[in-house]
Amino acid sequence: MKKRRISVFMFIDALGWEIVKKHHFMEELLPFRNKVEMQFGYSCTAIPTILTGERPEVHKHLSFYYYNPEESPFKSFKVLKFLPGSIFDRWRFRHLFSKVIAKAYRYTGYFEMYAMPFERLPYFDYIEKRDLFVPGGLLPVPNLADKLEEFGLRYHISNWRLTEEQNIQSLIEDVKKGSIDFGFLYTAAMDGLLHRVTREGQEVQQKLDWYAEHIYTLWQEMQNSYDEYNLIVISDHGMTTLTETVDAKKIVEALPLKFGKDYVAVYDSTMIHFWYFNDEARKAILKVIPTIPFSHLLNIEEKKRYGIDFKDNMYGEDIVLMDAGVQIAPSDMGRNTLPGMHGFAPEHEDSYASFLSSSKVEVEPQWVGDYFRVMLKEIERISGNPSL
Ligand SMILES: [Zn+2]
Repeated sequence: MKKRRISVFMFIDALGWEIVKKHHFMEELLPFRNKVEMQFGYSCTAIPTILTGERPEVHKHLSFYYYNPEESPFKSFKVLKFLPGSIFDRWRFRHLFSKVIAKAYRYTGYFEMYAMPFERLPYFDYIEKRDLFVPGGLLPVPNLADKLEEFGLRYHISNWRLTEEQNIQSLIEDVKKGSIDFGFLYTAAMDGLLHRVTREGQEVQQKLDWYAEHIYTLWQEMQNSYDEYNLIVISDHGMTTLTETVDAKKIVEALPLKFGKDYVAVYDSTMIHFWYFNDEARKAILKVIPTIPFSHLLNIEEKKRYGIDFKDNMYGEDIVLMDAGVQIAPSDMGRNTLPGMHGFAPEHEDSYASFLSSSKVEVEPQWVGDYFRVMLKEIERISGNPSL
């Protein structure tokens, strides 16, 4: 009889290497462990990287917003500037309005306007319009689901819209039935917790225990239903505790330049993206950048190393990165800082991600994009068809 095989990859957002090390997370069940370099960017950069094994230059996801007024889904917002701004500043209103837009345009991805001022939205397009996890979600680049379809495996990929508890239960049900060969379990609550309490928070151990309990249950069911099984926990980055706050917007906007006419900028929590429309603006901004405290302008070597050297400058002609621990506030992501943040230099200790496996893998990951190669090896092994 043919052996029943399964491989499950469980993604825990923000389960950094420093956290895993400090709390000795699941050392017995998952003894094959690697400290993994994160992808420069945020979770919206890391997920496409993990699902394709490619750098942002290739899969095109770096930040949510990029300059593209011709195709901006917010084009019609120009008429809204006459309405009182206070309505649009309320997070609840923005969240509901984001849902309305997503529905109107039939977006299936994670669509959220965050704190980008309304009058600035018409300059920008939004990258995550499609569900990244389903077949064709990152086309023209093939993603994990495309590969699973190609190899003809029966698979379960979590629905990111559900709670992590629902996603864990849903995968366990399929494992019990023995109806799948491959599982990708998505959980994201750890990220929210760490943003709120930092990696030093009391609640962290409790949350890790909660994950451990569910992982043991999953492992038990894999043992019951399959002859060969492999369980791997992966993460995208760690969490860095807030050290300083910088009002970078105020510094740039003190210049005698007009937003939209001379330049545009996107202020993420840990980086700024600039597009210049004339030489004076370029000169003035490049002169003011060194005065933004605890930050530096990314040079071409860094852009190349991080895989963000976009030939068309899709995410800005220049990118300023804050030092680890320093957050921009207010930013286009939020008005206030958070106790913990990620999106700093990948080389910083708190940035590193984790790879924890129940058995030794053929390709040991160095960078989060290598997870895709590990998953591909598993897919080939389970399907018994390495030549596809
Ligand atoms: Zn996060």
